[in-house]
Amino acid sequence: MVFPWKTRGIVLTAPLTHELDDVIKFIDEYLAPRGFNMLVMQVRYRYQFKRHPEVWGYDPLSLDDVKRLVAVCRKNNIKLVPKMNLIGHQSGFPNEPTDGILHGHNDTVGDIRDGLLRAYPDFDEQQGEKEINYARSICLSSKAAKIVVLELIDELMDAFEADTIHIGCDEAFNVGICPKCRQKPKGELIGAWINDINDHVKKRNGKVLMWGDRLLSAIETGYDRWESCDSDSHSALDILSRDIVICDWHYNKYDSYKSVDIFAHAGFKIMISPWRDKESLEAFVSYAKSHDKGHINGILMTTWCGSGDLAKRLLYGAGGKWCHTEQIASTINDIFGAE
Ligand SMILES: [Zn+2]
Repeated sequence: MVFPWKTRGIVLTAPLTHELDDVIKFIDEYLAPRGFNMLVMQVRYRYQFKRHPEVWGYDPLSLDDVKRLVAVCRKNNIKLVPKMNLIGHQSGFPNEPTDGILHGHNDTVGDIRDGLLRAYPDFDEQQGEKEINYARSICLSSKAAKIVVLELIDELMDAFEADTIHIGCDEAFNVGICPKCRQKPKGELIGAWINDINDHVKKRNGKVLMWGDRLLSAIETGYDRWESCDSDSHSALDILSRDIVICDWHYNKYDSYKSVDIFAHAGFKIMISPWRDKESLEAFVSYAKSHDKGHINGILMTTWCGSGDLAKRLLYGAGGKWCHTEQIASTINDIFGAE
């Protein structure tokens, strides 16, 4: 498929360390020849942070591992962007998918919280809550949490030699719950938290990418509750700094993708982010092409299977471990295939 935009990006999960060689080969021999020029790497807490070793997630990458990723991306002129989740997605189902990457755990970790909340239970918006939930959130009123988060950002951007970071912020359903946060409108809480992160990243001449779903009204767009929000958090859009690039993700097929127009009208640059279903991807790309007001930087393909799993499938034809890997691989092959 031909895209009119200059950025062709893909989101990969940080490789399991025993699959790092496969993923490096995948970047070098599969992604680069197919014109990918941005790689967003979903790290979460799977890096050996030196300043905060207490937050390490499962099988964390070392600095040397990261430098090998930096090198292969540099060689191929691929912009490498580390990604964290800096509101929601602070927890996971312990054994789903089976390779344990998506939610930062494998089944040897008897705790649903990811690195930050495991190390700092008082940063949890739902302290003491026992419910198994893949979308626990950081308390956005916690000044101490913000300090740690900004230090993690600095260390990750330094390690990845990155001028851009993707801060996630998708599916942040559980905000505005604790006694402090309850006192503020959700849009204000979320907007101020993200603007503070953006100000910090700007001070180091960096750029912020984030997911767009919490900035969209379900009523206005007609999107489902994952792709948009049915609370008032979408009012954050009014106060967010316009230099943040929104990654507008949609996995369902709709007649129109109104978010493309909403973000243009609000003055944001965006990337469009589809997933595994080819028909939905084509519908989204087609809508975006015909509604581009010069505000679309490019496409950012999402994957969500283990990057090693995807690499082995697309390099060697190996069977994918996760139930969706086969479809993800086949869509990537069809849409971005050899050129
Ligand atoms: Zn709170």
